[in-house]
Amino acid sequence: MPRYQAPRGTRDLLPADRAVFLRLEGIARSLAVRYGFSPIETPLFEQSEVFERGVGAVTDVVEKELFRVQAGRGDQERERWALRPEPTAGIVRAYVQHGMQTLPQPVRLTLTGPMFRYDRPQAGRYRQFWQFDVEAIGDAGPAIDAEIVELGLRFYREAGLDGVEVILNSIGDAACRPAYVERLRAWFMEREDRLPELERERLGTNPLRLLDSKDERMAELIAAAPTIADHLCAECATHFAAVRRHLEVLGVTPRLDPRLVRGLDYYTRTTFEFYRSGAEGQQQALGGGGRYDGLVELLGGKPTPGIGFGIGLDRVALALSAAGGSEPVAPRVPVVVAGADPEDTVTRLAIATRLRAAGITARADLAVRKLGRQLEAAAREGAHLVVICGDEMAAGQVQVKDLEAGTQRRVELADLAREIERTLAQHRHGAGEA
Ligand code: AMP
Repeated sequence: MPRYQAPRGTRDLLPADRAVFLRLEGIARSLAVRYGFSPIETPLFEQSEVFERGVGAVTDVVEKELFRVQAGRGDQERERWALRPEPTAGIVRAYVQHGMQTLPQPVRLTLTGPMFRYDRPQAGRYRQFWQFDVEAIGDAGPAIDAEIVELGLRFYREAGLDGVEVILNSIGDAACRPAYVERLRAWFMEREDRLPELERERLGTNPLRLLDSKDERMAELIAAAPTIADHLCAECATHFAAVRRHLEVLGVTPRLDPRLVRGLDYYTRTTFEFYRSGAEGQQQALGGGGRYDGLVELLGGKPTPGIGFGIGLDRVALALSAAGGSEPVAPRVPVVVAGADPEDTVTRLAIATRLRAAGITARADLAVRKLGRQLEAAAREGAHLVVICGDEMAAGQVQVKDLEAGTQRRVELADLAREIERTLAQHRHGAGEA
């Protein structure tokens, strides 16, 4: 085994994997434009406090999974940073920092990039993974809640993943949740002896977290625990009903689950997760999101509502390959520039550079080897055309060998780019007709 390996829980996206991700990122980008979200980038790391306050100190993401980074020499200089475990807190920090509340609301932002969680690695759970994220800050809903859920479902559909459904819940707000949380605490207290240690600790600090415990010993208790559905205040109940009504008009039928609380503290009211029907296990959520009406204020801004989602691109790629999606192929270079004189790499490189300047995807064969070997390599990698630089160069000409048609002809160097464009277009046309 090679001495150096990608760190545990991370992986290299080799060209074939990267091609799948690029396709997904392209769909994300085009959908974000279509739905009016503007791209934003935030740093891959933030002050840890942004996540501790934003995501919540008593959550798995912060307590167990935050990827902390220490930088600076002395204790005084040493800053407490953390790699971002999710994008919302950083985006909301940016919204506050740049005074975006003065812009027309809601501010619709999108980001696609890597997230980091120091979790135990397993299938579908990595320490570095990618999310397509959208956030709409400054709209209390309920219409926009439905708009965002529908956008998430459209992403899976356009990616070619069938049978994705949304599980939906409302987890109430500051008016009704505290009473429910107390009710929940009392209920679990009565069953304290059956709780695993971590859950027992959390009962004191954050009882809601018990509902999304990953501990298998909790499953039975969670199924029997009181649900928020019976405790929503009138405003939250009205909001939730309106979200469902809007979804219905958009043709979306959510599956209601009153136990869906999501792993992060900042959610209020609408929460949702995306799953493939029949694959609702722990590591199988394809995305999730919800409303966070208290987060902007928590991070130092004026009280401002918001809602968003994060879609896990790694899991979508896994689901696509499990569903038998076409195997990705490494992109091939259609044109190779070869030469009769093995030593003359200058001419081959110069011609490839001219073709690239004209917008043609081309590779020069820069190995010092015989023409026959250069042609074999071009054929092996699936090139369509080989430009051969030989004696004709003296007359300002090259040979163009068409590997698909099995033909070869002389072309004026001055016309080369145009001729190649024309031939490649014919190949594409031929492939299209086939
Ligand atoms: P969360 O906010 O934790 O629900 O994450 C949103 C989505 O990101 C999940 O539904 C997953 O698709 C994906 N995700 C979260 N954590 C991981 C991880 N450790 N590895 C891969 N994907 C993840």
